[in-house]
Amino acid sequence: MELDKPIFYLTEELRELVESELEFVREIPFFKVYRDPETGQYWRVPIPDKYQTEFLVNLPPGVDWIEFDSRELEISLLKEYRGISANQCIWKECNESALNGLRYCAMHALTKMNIRK
Ligand SMILES: [Zn+2]
Repeated sequence: MELDKPIFYLTEELRELVESELEFVREIPFFKVYRDPETGQYWRVPIPDKYQTEFLVNLPPGVDWIEFDSRELEISLLKEYRGISANQCIWKECNESALNGLRYCAMHALTKMNIRK
């Protein structure tokens, strides 16, 4: 499996790939940590939550697996997935571009509206 980005949307298909091709390391609060035997990299997978879009997140060497904050990665993935519109985000005093199909920028969509995809 070619995991060539630091974050992915965790589809059912990707979850199955992770479970079959990566080595389970251990469970931490809300997540399971896996190791890619080919690259030695660690990845964090949320315990399934049927209400939320979930992410497969790369854990850079030396980070605290439990405390690692993937919000910036989630925002950039959302921006990449939706694309940027010509409009400005309607959040008060925000100068960022709104995402395609939304009235908010990626940061406000994710952090204020809980739009993850
Ligand atoms: Zn905004």
